[in-house]
Amino acid sequence: MSADGIRVLPASAAERIAAGEVVERPASVVKELLENSLDAGARRILIEVEAAGSRLIRVSDDGEGIPASDLPLAFQRFATSKIRSAEDLAAIDTYGFRGEALPSIAAVARVEMVTRVRGAEAAKIAISGGAQPQLSPSGGPDGTTITVRDLFFNTPARRQFLKSPGRELAVIVETVEALALAAPGVAFRLREGGREIQWYPAEGFAQRARRVLGAEVAAGSVDLAASGQVANLTGVLGTPQAAQRRRTHQWFLVNGRPVRSPLLARALAQAYHTLIPDDRYPAAVLDVRMPAASVDANVHPRKTEVRFVRDRLVFDDVVREVRRTLHGVALVHSAPEAATDPVATLRETDAERTPGRGLFPPAHADWPAIRVIGQLDLTYIVGEAGGDLILVDQHAAHERVLYERLLAERSRHGVRAQGLVIPVVLDLAPAARALLEELAPLLPGLGYEVERFGPATVRLTAVPAVAAGRAPGELFRACLGDLAEDLGPHAGRALAERLAIATACHTAVRSGDRLDEATIAALLEALARAEDPFSCFHGRPTMVRMRRVDLERWFYRRA
Ligand code: ADP
Ligand code: MG
Repeated sequence: MSADGIRVLPASAAERIAAGEVVERPASVVKELLENSLDAGARRILIEVEAAGSRLIRVSDDGEGIPASDLPLAFQRFATSKIRSAEDLAAIDTYGFRGEALPSIAAVARVEMVTRVRGAEAAKIAISGGAQPQLSPSGGPDGTTITVRDLFFNTPARRQFLKSPGRELAVIVETVEALALAAPGVAFRLREGGREIQWYPAEGFAQRARRVLGAEVAAGSVDLAASGQVANLTGVLGTPQAAQRRRTHQWFLVNGRPVRSPLLARALAQAYHTLIPDDRYPAAVLDVRMPAASVDANVHPRKTEVRFVRDRLVFDDVVREVRRTLHGVALVHSAPEAATDPVATLRETDAERTPGRGLFPPAHADWPAIRVIGQLDLTYIVGEAGGDLILVDQHAAHERVLYERLLAERSRHGVRAQGLVIPVVLDLAPAARALLEELAPLLPGLGYEVERFGPATVRLTAVPAVAAGRAPGELFRACLGDLAEDLGPHAGRALAERLAIATACHTAVRSGDRLDEATIAALLEALARAEDPFSCFHGRPTMVRMRRVDLERWFYRRA
């Protein structure tokens, strides 16, 4: 403790500290300046940066400008033209309103602003490190150009917290992208060291969203437009194949403003769950619209996190509507698997379909009625639905059916077991024995009966009835093998779920299995009743749909 006692900080020091809340890094300056330009009604905005923004950030707009007489005020704390009283806070439709950005930036950099209101004289103001502003007449176009040099020149500690130039530039790019999504009707251009790195012409929201997502993700993406219980949703959804290893391709807006929202990120993940591997993140732009009173956007001065009053309902809306939209889309298929075994299990699926047992819910609302045309390459079922061409991957489809069925039976009275007339004796390696110890309590619930037979030997006396057509020893070994391998993306799932996955995988029909008409009909019928008929649990689609309109385009029947 210093002996000097308590003192009020000199204004310049206080400003520098307060500035830290608004200006954390170059991208925060870019964000504040862009928001001001948008608030000023700009149609075109140019952003120039040097040394990833630490040497220079310049934002030029063609907005309404600032009257010369107001210019010094713009750099005073809590000076804003956007609200007049605390009551106005309830109805804000601008980005800024606190009047903090310009004074904060001017406290930690050398700032110059040239501005001109249409029909008036241009004026210039220069202010450095929070010193007295210098005002002078100037020339210049309509609108405002603000130049921020030597950011943090007087706060070296803050400079040290900056990441590498590459990283800081990436955050600037993200910032421009976020605001470009919020204002698709405005043209944006970003230059770094004279080199143009981003350019967005004025366009519609869906086009802008695709431009931000990038050409690769945009290809095959779908528009989302839906009204949920509490929110209206618009956006562009990447296909499951476009899912990314990181969250870099997710953008959320609430009432048109870019936000961070763990809730929306979770909802999106939930919507794509099982459509993509568990370690991937969907690519999407999502704008959630709802009455302003249902959202609290004023949580944090800089980070723009939102809170929803009825967050559970917002979550549900997003999951449901995103899913519904994805289900309507043709999905591109990944490579099929190698062929092996026969198809006995499927006929059983059909034979066992006793009405009234509740195991078989009605067909999925979004699943089409398919007229079967035949089998292709002993791998796909070919069909037709309302003029669209349908391809179903027989293995993926059967996996999905078996998996849901195993889990449904398990949650009721346990998976139905099929006793083996001749029990199978298996020698197990130490690792497999250890795994088996862990699995032992789960096995009966999933239809397996296993007894200890010797120190390194077990006897398999029953397998799930759906797998009765498979060689029981091989099936069980293959399942143990999958579980021991940790199964990559499935590793986080409960052991019982993973055993169900492995069982379904090694029981399902394969590519190369010839399916007769009755078997195909039974498979499609069971699939239609699945809770999620559109993908297998590996995240591969079960069905690809080629729309009639696309077929017509291919044959030049339509422009
Ligand atoms: P806020 O945006 O919260 O009002 P700022 O410190 O960002 O506070 O800006 C202060 C004021 O300066 C704004 O209210 C606005 O009147 C004016 N201003 C800032 N940038 C611009 C611009 N690019 N064009 C027109 N006016 C601007
Ligand atoms: Mg502002």
